[in-house]
This record gives sequence, structure tokens and C-alpha cells, in this order.
Amino acid sequence: MPRPLPSAAAPFVCRFAPSPNGRLHLGHAFSALVNEAAARRMGGTFLLRMEDIDATRCRPDHEAAILQDLAWLGIAPDAPPRRQSEHFADYAAALERLSAMGLIYAAFESRADIARAVIAREAATGRPALRDPDGAPLFPFARSAMSEAERDARRAEGAPFVLRLDMAAALAAAEALPGGPLGWTEAQGVPEGPRAPVPADPTRWGDVVLARKDVPTSYHLSVVVDDAAQGITHVIRGMDLFHATSVHVLLQRLLGLPTPLYHHHRLIHDDSGRKLSKSNAATSLAALRAAGVRPQDIRARLQPTPST
Ligand code: GLU
Repeated sequence: MPRPLPSAAAPFVCRFAPSPNGRLHLGHAFSALVNEAAARRMGGTFLLRMEDIDATRCRPDHEAAILQDLAWLGIAPDAPPRRQSEHFADYAAALERLSAMGLIYAAFESRADIARAVIAREAATGRPALRDPDGAPLFPFARSAMSEAERDARRAEGAPFVLRLDMAAALAAAEALPGGPLGWTEAQGVPEGPRAPVPADPTRWGDVVLARKDVPTSYHLSVVVDDAAQGITHVIRGMDLFHATSVHVLLQRLLGLPTPLYHHHRLIHDDSGRKLSKSNAATSLAALRAAGVRPQDIRARLQPTPST
């Protein structure tokens, strides 16, 4: 009798997705190392994605520097990077699908209009405005305040606009689709750690921006389209993006895309306890390298395993 074939191991595909708008710092290095180490432990695939939708801030020399920094650290992705700037047609198709469902609308309020409306409302109610998990006030205007015909006319006139997701309508549409309550599975401790269900709460973000006139997509939209296009099974990224996952699972449901498993790892802080940022040049890998720090010193300092 032929012996049964061993069952195929569950696929494991993860990615590191930096924006090439500056140099990598220790926080990026940690995220890349956690991803790569998990892929190697699981016999999986580690991919790279350049999140370069913003042509005014993302530059090819930054991308080259990121590739150089990763190579210096000894991190070797399993394929050349996917560049978001080469896939605007994919994001347009996703927007078109949401638009056909009646879930997005053009909004013409500038950042200053929004700030003024928020201040006026806070003064009138005596209460602080509702804020999203990143601390920005929720969009304070109602879709119903302007007809679709007027929105179309203003767009045709060339007025600057953003495309917003009608959050209430999107949730109602998602509820009518199969798949059960909206949420995701979070791997705890390490990417292959114990799993816990997390309910999604996308209303905390209000009517999020999915595209702009000048950049015809957004972080939220392109990340879900690309995770599906790259066949990502495990999204491994920093805790700072934990709440954004609520928006991502909503978009996945609406667009008929699979929801990967998520692992949000701890963040690396500087000596004074602040989150690292691209503006803090002292912790850039380039600066550390110039100061004589070696890749093995960085790996030892960050220790992506066993408990992230
Ligand atoms: N491009 C994002 C960043 O650099 C990461 C996106 C993600 O991992 O989902 O913060």
C-alpha cells in the first residue's frame, strides 16, 4: 500500500513594507528581522514591498538605501520588491468596486475646513471632539450634506477632493456579506504564537480617506489590495498599526479578499522612551553603521526571537 503523503505544511508568507521616504531606523530593522526570522523558522516566504504611493515624499534613492541597509543587516527577501507605484490600476479597480457598491464619496473640505468645524463644534457642545485611534478628530461633516450630483459637478470643475469611505454604509454592506462578525485572529507573543480573536471596530476611524485627487489611493486601500496580491498569510507589523487592522478587515470583506493572520509586535523606543521616527536621525541604520556599529550588534540589541 502506498504510504500517505505528508500533509502539506500551512503556507507562511509574510512581508516587510517600508515607505521609501527616509532612511530605515532601528524600529524598521526590528520589524524586518521579526518577519524574516518567522519566515525562516516556519519554512515560509519573506517578501518586501515598497509603499511608495506618495511621489512627493518617496524617492528612488531612499529605496536604494533601504535595500542597502537590509543587505548590510543580512536580511535577504525571497523576491524583488513589489512597488505600489507600479500598481495604481489595481487600486483604481478596488475603488471602482467600492464606488459601484455606493460606499465612497468625494469630499471637498480641506484640512483647515475640518479643523475649523471641529473647534466650532467643541465650543458649541463644550465637549472634546471624537478622535480616531491616532488622535485625529473624526471627519465632522455628513455625506448627506451635499448631493451626489453636486459632488460630481465639483469634481468635474477640477476642485481638489478626497474619496472617503461612508463608514456607516460600509458596515451595513459588510454585515450583509457572509463571513460572520468582523474581526481578525491575532498571534500573540510571536508570529506562530497562541491565537486570539480580535473584534474589529472600524467606526472609531469615521469616514476614512481611501484616495486623493493627487494620490489616487491611500495606505489603507493599497495595503489590503497588496497583501492579497502578494498572497500574504501573516501580516507581521508594529503595534502602532493594530487599530488600523479594523479598517483593513472591513475593506477585505467588502472587496472579497482573504483576511490574513495578524501579529502586531512591540515597538522599539529610544533611550527617553519615545517611539522612533524617521526624523530622529540618531537611530537610523546609516548613522549607526557610520558610528561603527556592526550588524551583529544590531541583531543582538533587537533580538527578534523568541518573544517579540
Ligand atoms: N508602510 C507602513 C510603514 O512604513 C507599514 C505598513 C504595514 O506594515 O502594513 O509604517
